[in-house]
Amino acid sequence: MPVTAVVGAQWGDEGKGKITDLLAQEADVVIRYQGGNNAGHTVVNQHGTFKLHLVPSGIFNPNALCIVGPGTVVNLGVLCDELANLEQHGISTANLRVSDRAHLIMPWHLLLDRLDERERGRQKLGTTGQGVGPAYADKVARHGIQVYEVRDPKRFRARVAHELETKNKVIEGFGDPPLDATAVADEVLKSVATLGDRIVDTLPLVERAVRTDARVLLEGQLGVMRDLDWGIYPYVTSSNPLAGGASVGAGIPPRFITRVIGVVKAYSTSVGEGPFLTEMKGKEGDALREMANEYGATTGRPRRVGWFDAVAARHANRLNAFTEIAVTKLDVLGAYEEIPFCVAYELDGARTCDMPPTQLLERATPVYETQPGWRADLAGVSDRAHLPANARAYLSKIEQTVGAPIGMVGVGPERSATLL
Ligand code: GDP
Repeated sequence: MPVTAVVGAQWGDEGKGKITDLLAQEADVVIRYQGGNNAGHTVVNQHGTFKLHLVPSGIFNPNALCIVGPGTVVNLGVLCDELANLEQHGISTANLRVSDRAHLIMPWHLLLDRLDERERGRQKLGTTGQGVGPAYADKVARHGIQVYEVRDPKRFRARVAHELETKNKVIEGFGDPPLDATAVADEVLKSVATLGDRIVDTLPLVERAVRTDARVLLEGQLGVMRDLDWGIYPYVTSSNPLAGGASVGAGIPPRFITRVIGVVKAYSTSVGEGPFLTEMKGKEGDALREMANEYGATTGRPRRVGWFDAVAARHANRLNAFTEIAVTKLDVLGAYEEIPFCVAYELDGARTCDMPPTQLLERATPVYETQPGWRADLAGVSDRAHLPANARAYLSKIEQTVGAPIGMVGVGPERSATLL
């Protein structure tokens, strides 16, 4: 396995956790390169069912080094809870390392996240309230605190007090009580002992891995439609899920990333606000949501569901040049006689396969072609050649419209329910 990036090619929740867990069995290093604990990657394997928020999905391979990369934002308390939960289930977290250059999600970021959403009112972004956006905003504004700074508690306390001088003005402006610097610093520092020597400069580890041809997996969070630069701004995450973001966020020179797997669901889902053209509303949507158990791994929020949108997935492919696509949840579509498949958008009377910017997208409508369903339970199918002919035709339609070959097909949540 060369250096492989696993990238969400829709709005997130495509099943990247499952694909990463599967590939991680053969990996030496698994790196989360962006985002924070605002999304959850679900892994179902011989150890049970896990919702990983920040820990790379490679943690189940005891021989793999798992890195929370420099491009992430980290809530140390949440990370410690996640590690404790894994240990309780008998999963060793000894091989986890946290980049000392990652940025901290501080208690004020969680508060400001919620206050900002409240102020936006009807224009809210639908964030998970985990402080991820405000932490990245501070990083860009050069007010962020990097993980290594907790190593010097005295200086860290002074930093917290200094930051809170301005943060508290904002918090009080929103009508909330100010935060206490000592309590905030105590809360963050109590996690430091738990993490111990897991906080390191990860670059030498990653560089050595790449130079010695070790098998490296880069695990993306969310999907291209939520990419800060290429998604449905402003309804986006504050980092770059793209494979390009993996290079920066993990510390791997771009030319080493030779395999990029785009993960798509066989239909679409989206958590949060923003245009979602193929959305199924009302009873039709409820039925698919229930059948597919589409509820957020972090928040339990019902996910918006819709038909496959080839314009969105093609947009993702244009930006990532997927060497292959992994299609998950094909099994879910077994209930349908016919399956609408969005091949283009209509915008101001013209047909387009390009992804317009958000305000134009809001007035576009989907152009569907109908694919015949297969009306079959795919449980137990272990070879792509044994899929019903219409299911194979559906996969071919995805390949054709997205423009990349399919390398993996998911027919169930378990690691083993993947056709290679
Ligand atoms: P991620 O954030 O991209 O890892 O995706 P999530 O874990 O949030 O959501 C994907 C959901 O789909 C999880 O509940 C997975 O267990 C489930 N899943 C993944 N692949 C398949 C599949 O092929 N079939 C079915 N039925 N479920 C799947």
